[in-house]
Amino acid sequence: MQGYDPFQLGEATRKSVVRVVGGVEERKYYRFRGGRWYGGIATGDVVGCNLRCKFCWSWRFTHITDKGYFRRPEEAFEKIFAIASRKGYKYVRVSGGEPTLSLNHLQELLKLFSETKYVFILETNGLLIGKEYSLAKMLSNYSNVVVRVSFKGATEEEFNMLTGAKPEFFNYQFKALENLIEVGFKPGEEVYPAIMLSFSTDENYAKFKKRLMEINPRLVESIDEEYVILYPHVIELLKKNKLRPRLAFTPDNIPQCMI
Ligand code: SF4
Repeated sequence: MQGYDPFQLGEATRKSVVRVVGGVEERKYYRFRGGRWYGGIATGDVVGCNLRCKFCWSWRFTHITDKGYFRRPEEAFEKIFAIASRKGYKYVRVSGGEPTLSLNHLQELLKLFSETKYVFILETNGLLIGKEYSLAKMLSNYSNVVVRVSFKGATEEEFNMLTGAKPEFFNYQFKALENLIEVGFKPGEEVYPAIMLSFSTDENYAKFKKRLMEINPRLVESIDEEYVILYPHVIELLKKNKLRPRLAFTPDNIPQCMI
């Protein structure tokens, strides 16, 4: 089966979204915002990813990386912190693209948030955490971090169809869960799986659950099921990729369980 190597793509992407100035790693962000997800969360949206999902809601900043501004970790911290304080949120996160592409930047951000009352939700596709055990180990230094590993499809074939990446890289997403549990993250509480289900068959979803069960049953109980939200720019991408969701929601009809 054809496809790209996400680690090579990630390295190439890093060159345009990560830079080091005066020994400090800066990451490109395209916005900072509050929002209703997780019951209220302050978010910094980064530019750049090591996948090219054909349903990506932020594809204009992940598939294309020329927009956004480089921020030092303290700058990003101040902006996210200010939103969380002003709005009275409990959670903060980095989203939009893949946060683990800028490891040093992420680590500095986690350090800064570890001295606050906020829970940091690390939204990631998990590929790099699956590849590098040391990355899982680094994350385990911060007790306020919860890791949400977002699976792109339920099987290798679906992963390949949805991301265009070589199918075998899907296994790194499972490996990420294994590594995180091994370094001490509690399954179902401090680490849990999310899955894009808009394009999956019931049969493949059953296979996915079986794989999770083999790692830890608590992971099955804590699956966060995701479906495509049909924003105009997402419809544009789906059409371009000739991809038709089996189930999707309009922006004014998002089920409560997805918020
Ligand atoms: S992993 Fe997430 S951010 Fe990256 S392309 Fe896929 S949906 Fe977009």
